[in-house]
Amino acid sequence: MTVTANKVVTIHYTLRNDAGEVLDSSDGGDPLVYLHGAGNIVPGLERQLEGRGKGDAITATVAPEDAYGPKSPGGPKAIPKSAFSGMEVAAGMTFVVEDEDGDPMPLRVVEVRGDTVMVDMDHPLAGETLHFQVEIVDVRDATAEELLHGHVHGEGDHHHH
Ligand code: ZN
Repeated sequence: MTVTANKVVTIHYTLRNDAGEVLDSSDGGDPLVYLHGAGNIVPGLERQLEGRGKGDAITATVAPEDAYGPKSPGGPKAIPKSAFSGMEVAAGMTFVVEDEDGDPMPLRVVEVRGDTVMVDMDHPLAGETLHFQVEIVDVRDATAEELLHGHVHGEGDHHHH
């Protein structure tokens, strides 16, 4: 069976950065199961898995534009310390705030300068070219319910409905 839209694809993967450091891997753990064509994985990887089949091993290089986006121009942003309503704030801390759509967004504190807090709101992998090694373990048809939800159901499925 071929990897194409509306298939449930099971993969083992290792993700490295340009320096060859492992950023993430399913090695020694459960494989990743995702719904192809639903934007469950980064677009550049999804595109390069298209048309492949069970048992295929591929390497895929994905530019930031096809992954987590470029770093924001201008770097970290300044926020008044008062916005943290008395919470302790120090460099290296991460807060989760809501973006305009109400989705959670990580906000990392880069530096505290007096009453000003410098924060980085980019995804941790923004600006990174991603190097994936992927082995396609299984490909199956999605169920009608999975297609309706836009994600995979099954064992080890912890998402909310
Ligand atoms: Zn669901």
